[in-house]
Amino acid sequence: MQLKDCPRVSLAHLPTPLEAMPRLSEYLGGPQIFVKRDDCTGLATGGNKTRKLEFSMGEAIQRGADTIITVGAVQSNHVRQTAAAACKLGLKCEVLLEHRVAHPSDLYRSSGNVFLDRLFGANLREYENGTDFDAEMEVIAEEVRSSGGKPYIIPGGASNPVGALGYVSCAIELLQQAEEKGISFDHFVTTSGSAGTHAGLAVGLRGSGCDKPILGFGVTAGQDILEERVYELACDTAEYVGEPGVVARDDILVDCSYVGPGYGEPTEAMNEAVLLGARLEGLLFDPVYTGKALAGTIDYIREGRIAKDSKVVFLHTGGAAGLFAYADTLTLD
Ligand SMILES: *Cc1c(COP(=O)(O)O)cnc(C)c1O
Repeated sequence: MQLKDCPRVSLAHLPTPLEAMPRLSEYLGGPQIFVKRDDCTGLATGGNKTRKLEFSMGEAIQRGADTIITVGAVQSNHVRQTAAAACKLGLKCEVLLEHRVAHPSDLYRSSGNVFLDRLFGANLREYENGTDFDAEMEVIAEEVRSSGGKPYIIPGGASNPVGALGYVSCAIELLQQAEEKGISFDHFVTTSGSAGTHAGLAVGLRGSGCDKPILGFGVTAGQDILEERVYELACDTAEYVGEPGVVARDDILVDCSYVGPGYGEPTEAMNEAVLLGARLEGLLFDPVYTGKALAGTIDYIREGRIAKDSKVVFLHTGGAAGLFAYADTLTLD
């Protein structure tokens, strides 16, 4: 794979740690569960978008951009990391926020990631659910150009072949750490939202000769659509790195059974998973992404779909900043 030739800036603390979760493993009666700590990428409380942004921002700088335009939900971790990266690189940041949650609380609208976006001085504009964001981002790009600036658009979640390179690179890093520790994983588990993390991981693992299952727990309804999107992005990313065809259709497994009523809507299983992660391992999982993926992982283990004598690694994609915005939706006892 030709990652070395791709423009890249340094934003993340790498490599992120690979750790065991012995108390959670024991609580569930096996398997051995490991966590790849991409919640510790370092930029503005960390998360998975930082690895992607190393490549997206690398291309933006190579193209001489001075203004980054991107989009996300109101409590988007991607937007927060993009706003911080733009500050670090001396770029302006124009943000389109989508009102995706039905009855947002005051905390949801002003705390957590939104507070940090404002701290980083990003220019925030709010839009209704279902807006055509590709078109709206073009409108803003045109505004930037007409005032003499050079825009660069990063799609939601930085989920295009350029951003997905972050997770091709993460897969290679993870396999190397596993080898150093003498661990051979039977299952790879991630959260899947805008598809880039899952797609990049699949390309990196398959491209390195690892043929173990890679399961993505979706955070919105629409399992077939998401699975297809991950596959298509994996194909495009594979081509981009000069390894076309390295990912097969049945390499991509998505399960959206743990979404509950919808994106960002709390579920009991998520609540249990967030508390188990916190109280057994001292780790922060979030209500929107990693809490639901951990709930799915725990259920797979209880149902025997992940065998008790296997080794599983959970990619922790971050999200802690969002916890504060959802504080009133979690039940703590
Ligand atoms: C964005 C995000 C994800 C999903 O990653 P995608 O590449 O969009 O699928 C998972 N967890 C957290 C905390 C995120 O912010």
